[in-house]
Amino acid sequence: MVHSDFVKLLGQLASLTPPQRAQVRSALDERSNATAVAIASVIPSPNVCPRCQAHSEQLRPWGYSHGLARMRCRACGKTSNVLTGTPLAHLRKREQWLRYGQLRIPVIVTADSGRS
Ligand SMILES: [Zn+2]
Repeated sequence: MVHSDFVKLLGQLASLTPPQRAQVRSALDERSNATAVAIASVIPSPNVCPRCQAHSEQLRPWGYSHGLARMRCRACGKTSNVLTGTPLAHLRKREQWLRYGQLRIPVIVTADSGRS
């Protein structure tokens, strides 16, 4: 978005009605959850309960939380999702995960780099 358009948009936010503010907040939250859902889609489903190590047959669908499918373990009664037990569990600012990951990819420098 062009900076001048963004400034204009910010100025218009003050005139939003409470339901409109809720809609904007919901739209921004959905974008945040979309990143987590995209990352979770490439993480394989657990073979065991991440809490008690019970076999995956003990895991049952248990709705959704923050856009991620939740499972409940019949053995321990605890809920989890595909991020449970990973370094991504409990991380916030999901909308920034992809950008952070991209920045963590090292740049490969070859012997020919920088020569022209
Ligand atoms: Zn369990």
